[in-house]
Amino acid sequence: MCIFCNIAKSPDSLIYEDELVVAFKDIRPIVPVHILVIPKKHIASINELPDGEEGDLIAGRLINVAKKIAQKEGIAENGYKLLIRTGNHGGQEVQHIHLHLLGGGRMKEGIGLAS
Ligand code: AMP
Ligand code: ZN
Repeated sequence: MCIFCNIAKSPDSLIYEDELVVAFKDIRPIVPVHILVIPKKHIASINELPDGEEGDLIAGRLINVAKKIAQKEGIAENGYKLLIRTGNHGGQEVQHIHLHLLGGGRMKEGIGLAS
């Protein structure tokens, strides 16, 4: 059973829920505000995001919900980073799409190939 599907069905874990997506705190935060926004539907990665309206709706909703949570958390004005890892080279560990909302301090650059 997918761990993020389980979390999506546990109202106590959620900080946001609508008909398409849920959000919850990352269990190992790497910055002061570290929240994951995921589709309710099990979609393993961006590679499996459906083409067309359904995928467009989910992808758009993930970002708009991150925007709203950033406002609620008080980090919108100073800024934040949104991250979706995909597949092996992208460093994805959990095989259910998740958008990281990262904020609460100035971000490191953190882009490039592994050494
Ligand atoms: P990624 O490397 O992009 O696949 O990110 C996976 C993220 O999921 C990591 O930041 C983990 O800390 C987080 N994570 C793993 N298990 C849980 C869990 N049970 N609850 C909340 N976050 C989790
Ligand atoms: Zn899942």
